[in-house]
Amino acid sequence: MKIRDRINLNFLVVFLIIFLIIGVSVYIYSSQLIKEQIYSYLYSSAKARAENIRTFLQDQTAMAKIMAASTVYRDLLKEPATSDQYALLRERVEKRLQRTLGAEKNLSKLFILDQKGKIIASTDLAEEGKDKSTDPYFLEGQENVYIKDIHFSEGTNKAVFVIAAPIKDDVSGETIGISVARYDADKFYSIVGGENGLGESEENFLINRDKYFLTPSRFLGESVILTKKVETKNAAECFDENEINQVKKSGYPGLKNHPDHSPFVEAKDYRNIDIIGTHFYIPETNWCLITKVDASEIFTINNKILSVFVIIFVISIIILILASHYVARRITKPLNKLQAGIKNIENGNLGYKVAMSSSDEIGDLSRAFDKMNFAVQESRREIEIKVQNQTQEISKKQKDLENQQKAVLNILEDVEEEKINASKLAVIVRDADEPIIGKDLNGIITSWNLGAQKLYGYTSQEVIGKSIKIILPPDRQNEFNNILKKIVKGENVGHLQTTRLKKDGSSVDVSVSISPITDASGKIIGASSIALDITKEKEIDKVKTEFVSLASHQLRTPLSAINWYTEMLLAGDAGKLLPEQKQYLDQVYASNKRMVDLVNALLNVSRLELGTFMIEPELADVTELADSIIKELIPSIEQKKLKLVKDFAKGLPKLSVDKKLLTIVFQNLLSNAVKYTPEKGQLGFVISKDKNNFTFKVADTGYGIPKAQQDKIFTKLFRADNVREKETEGTGLGLYIVKMIIDHSGGKIWFESQEGKGTTFYVTLPLSGMQKKEGTKSLG
Ligand code: ADP
Repeated sequence: MKIRDRINLNFLVVFLIIFLIIGVSVYIYSSQLIKEQIYSYLYSSAKARAENIRTFLQDQTAMAKIMAASTVYRDLLKEPATSDQYALLRERVEKRLQRTLGAEKNLSKLFILDQKGKIIASTDLAEEGKDKSTDPYFLEGQENVYIKDIHFSEGTNKAVFVIAAPIKDDVSGETIGISVARYDADKFYSIVGGENGLGESEENFLINRDKYFLTPSRFLGESVILTKKVETKNAAECFDENEINQVKKSGYPGLKNHPDHSPFVEAKDYRNIDIIGTHFYIPETNWCLITKVDASEIFTINNKILSVFVIIFVISIIILILASHYVARRITKPLNKLQAGIKNIENGNLGYKVAMSSSDEIGDLSRAFDKMNFAVQESRREIEIKVQNQTQEISKKQKDLENQQKAVLNILEDVEEEKINASKLAVIVRDADEPIIGKDLNGIITSWNLGAQKLYGYTSQEVIGKSIKIILPPDRQNEFNNILKKIVKGENVGHLQTTRLKKDGSSVDVSVSISPITDASGKIIGASSIALDITKEKEIDKVKTEFVSLASHQLRTPLSAINWYTEMLLAGDAGKLLPEQKQYLDQVYASNKRMVDLVNALLNVSRLELGTFMIEPELADVTELADSIIKELIPSIEQKKLKLVKDFAKGLPKLSVDKKLLTIVFQNLLSNAVKYTPEKGQLGFVISKDKNNFTFKVADTGYGIPKAQQDKIFTKLFRADNVREKETEGTGLGLYIVKMIIDHSGGKIWFESQEGKGTTFYVTLPLSGMQKKEGTKSLG
């Protein structure tokens, strides 16, 4: 709905509410006022009329009384009819009657009745002599004035009423005759019937005690007189005993306060038409005056008021519509301007300004709108710039994306190529002659190539899903766990020489290289191993070792002889030696000693490698053993001015060890510490025990072992670069032998070293001591 229509509607609704409230109240009030006015006028005019009637009746009654008191009448009535005076007296009476009739125009006839009811004198001479002894006015008028109701005269058939007054003897006071005055009822018609301007339908009439019309009906004429009864509420209330008594007692003023009924009657009249009326009882004659107006006439007035209201309403509505239209136009005109502005902007004319100068709210609104429009323009401009930038960025990104796509395609191609390569590789691996085995971190075999099948005798179907331990000999079952520890750390295990079990139960010597397998995310998920059958190499090694063993063995006897004879020569058994000779012999002795050591070492190595050596554990005090070895080394320690710190735990129990082997271990570790520590360095020898092991710790502050070579330290004939320049003496067999001894005894050996700072070797043996090993030879 448009604002204009809404304003119009609001005006109309407000007006309607106000008009209805005011209009209805004024209408009700004015109707009430009119009604009260009419009632009041009705009452007062009817009351005046009733009083007028009563005054007339009272006047006539008084006159009747005066007339009856006349001596002329009394004289005639007292005079016997037979007397001479009688005719004279009657003439006098007749004259008086005529005079009275002439003076009172309402009178139609006057006559005098004697004691017997006979007319003795009359204004109508023809009436004289008539007997009226049965007439009510004769009978009722004996004592007091009697007014006879309006009735039709027998002679003239005119409506008349009669007032009779008794003529009394002035001496005895007895009634000697009756004076009768007959009035034309027309007289009353004019008193009663005249309208008082109450309205078109105003009607006044008299009814008698029997409720018959005494005066004509305005609507039905004279025919109703004494013929039509008025059986209405007005009539009934008028003759109500209470009301009669009220009127008789206090006159009309008390009527308004009547307890039972109001003086106003709203009821049907004798015509059965709704009227509003009032009534007044006339006590003198027992009559009732009824005054009434048709209710419709009063409503006509109300209707007239109503139509005036309607006219005012219609005119007001027209004025209101015009006014509200004008006001609405005034209000909506700037709004329309604003709307037109918005349309303009909607159509793309963004620069449009409403620019209203008025200082009212709409003016403010239009200025705010212009401001907002400006802001919108600004932000649109900004957005356009942003969009432009973003578009550029998007196209750049699109190019990047295209490049990336190309790159991805290239990668995919590479991947495809890789796949092909991988599948080629897979074929190579599958068909390779070398056994290649894949397993997960639990040791479950996941792949098994033809080489593996050839070497171990199992088909891939037989072993895939089974544990790798199937090919581990019983004494090497733990090997996998040791390998696994390295693999999970991402380390490779290279050229591990070991033994594997074939399907037929025989064993085969292999050199195994194991590396971790990772998934796409780099997580280690298993290991792959490639093995080389080294049975032949082993055999050659064995032959070599046997040869070395034989050679060493053979060399020991002549070397011992050299040693022995040299000692003898040095002791002077063959005569005193010249200093130069002694010097040469010292050299020979030392070289021979080194040779003996080397041969012993080689013999030990061959015995270890051939497995012919024995381990014979016996309970021994390891600290005592350690002390005896320290003692041997004291000359070299002192020579190098080294400081030895010894820390043997107190009260250590005896340990089951092969004394010879443990001596070799201690000798090697301690002599290395002395050998590879420069002068004034420090040595440490610690023996301790915890709940599982004995630990032997040999530390020094020497040259240390280069990090890059630490993994080779226990290999045969290995000597680190840093010591080779400094200490020329050395075989590179000592640690190899130590490691073999410890490994075969069920112990462990490892070290910590930092080049230039020092080295610490750790050896642990279980509390149970060394494991016994059967063999043919002992190490020395
Ligand atoms: P060698 O006869 O050469 O001492 P070993 O087997 O006893 O043979 O030692 C092997 C090599 O280990 C040595 O040549 C040396 O490089 C290194 N080595 C052993 N012990 C020590 C140590 N205490 N300090 C530094 N290097 C050591």
